[in-house]
This record gives sequence, structure tokens and C-alpha cells, in this order.
Amino acid sequence: VVRDSKRTGMTLQARYRFRRFLRNRGGNVTAQRMRILRNVLAQTGHFDAEQIVQDLKNGRLGISRATVYRTLAELEQCNLIRKVDNISRRWRYERAADGVRHEHILCVKCGKIIDVCDTILEQRIADVFRSNGFESSNRAFHFFGICKQCKAGMKNQP
Ligand SMILES: [Zn+2]
Ligand SMILES: [Zn+2]
Repeated sequence: VVRDSKRTGMTLQARYRFRRFLRNRGGNVTAQRMRILRNVLAQTGHFDAEQIVQDLKNGRLGISRATVYRTLAELEQCNLIRKVDNISRRWRYERAADGVRHEHILCVKCGKIIDVCDTILEQRIADVFRSNGFESSNRAFHFFGICKQCKAGMKNQP
């Protein structure tokens, strides 16, 4: 129950922030945009625009692909989501405020992505910034490789 109310609080905060963002830049707070935000907030892991397009295409609001792409760009500018990777030539996103700081490990064959939550690694990255006199703003730090399933599949090939 505590968890639920926390989530609801986060959702309200995100909706408020997005509305304010849109008004500040003279954009319209449309039902379509808010519906896309609702879908994004319901995402638990990594997602791309096409997933949202599929989820919402049969809804009564008639949300177009262009609207989804435009709204995701706005949500990113508003810091509600962030880009993760485009290994499959499609940007994948995740919610920006979610959980602990983490990096990503990606499979170059199938595009699988896994969160790497490692406090020692995060500490080391923070040290690198500090020892060079930098303040961390934005960064992308990915580990690339071949996942277990893809590796097994390669072995089975003649
Ligand atoms: Zn793979
Ligand atoms: Zn992630």
C-alpha cells in the first residue's frame, strides 16, 4: 500500500511537471500528450516509441505515430525520461527518476539490455569526475557483448 501511494505521488508530480513544461513553452496540454505520459509512467523497464505506438493505436484518442515521437522528445526535454541506447537504430528510453543510478549492458546480437546496479562501479565513476575536477551532468556508459542465449544459439549453428 505504501508503495502504491508512493507511485501515485510520483505520477501526480510527473503530470504536474509535464503540464507546467508544456505551458511554459506555449504548447498545448492535450489529452493525447497526457495519455502518452500515462503509458510512459506505467512502463517498468526500457521501452521505445514503437511500443507506445502499438499500445495506444487502438485507443479512442487516435494517437498518431508522429504525436508519440514528438511527445517522447518533449518528455525527454522535461527530464521525465532519458535515452538509453539506439543499438537497434531506435532510441530506447527509461524513466529518469527511477530507482538507483545504474549503467547498462547490451547484447550486440539481439539488443537485449540489462541494468547494471553496482555501487562500487558508480563510486568509481563519481571518483573519475571528481579527480578530473568535473561535475557529472549527463553521461552514457554502456557495456557491449553477446548474451548467454545468443552465445548458445551461435554454438548450435552448423
Ligand atoms: Zn543476445
Ligand atoms: Zn536502465
